[in-house]
Amino acid sequence: MKNIMPAKKQNSLQDCLICEEEKDRGIHLLNYFICVECEKDIVQSETEDRGYKLYLDRLRKVKDTLISMKEDKVH
Ligand SMILES: [Zn+2]
Repeated sequence: MKNIMPAKKQNSLQDCLICEEEKDRGIHLLNYFICVECEKDIVQSETEDRGYKLYLDRLRKVKDTLISMKEDKVH
């Protein structure tokens, strides 16, 4: 669902990993960005929810990055 918000110029818009829309509020996971709406959706999703699989699929990208980063450099 899209909320029509009053136009507010932000320089910090980032593409959300899940919904692929530009959002200004969210969390950073490595070099990925997940907006607050999608973060809530993920948290509230039941495993039987159809949407949950999509989220898992997207989040797999993050996991892949995590693994490749670990191979690349150890923190
Ligand atoms: Zn999103």
